[in-house]
Amino acid sequence: MTDCVFCKIVSGEIPAKIVKRSADAVAFYDLNPQAPVHVLIIPTTHLAAGRDARGEDGVRLLGRTLAFANEVATELGLDARGYRLVSNTGADGGQSVFHLHFHLLGGRRLSWPPG
Ligand code: AMP
Repeated sequence: MTDCVFCKIVSGEIPAKIVKRSADAVAFYDLNPQAPVHVLIIPTTHLAAGRDARGEDGVRLLGRTLAFANEVATELGLDARGYRLVSNTGADGGQSVFHLHFHLLGGRRLSWPPG
């Protein structure tokens, strides 16, 4: 999608600190980290949010993106202490970039419930 900042990161038009790339997903560090480790995991295919993942293709995309997120968490050494994987969706969810992404947060004890 031409106007999407995360699509531009996928294509390399906008620089990002890439953690890992696969054929259908990219992980990169968040510009405004909220924890010692704060990585965004996105599918290379543009979808505004997880709720737009429909049918078999949508299920496959969500599954592959989450499996990729698990690999990233393991490779960043987060498995032993744990981490949070969240996807803000729409206005009430606090979403500000409308390309499906999962925040991978770790490296400190996170509070619950969120604000
Ligand atoms: P959300 O508010 O859940 O939509 O999260 C969007 C996230 O994208 C925020 O945490 C931003 O700091 C992050 N972000 C926005 N633009 C960039 C960028 N160019 N590179 C890395 N992270 C970004």
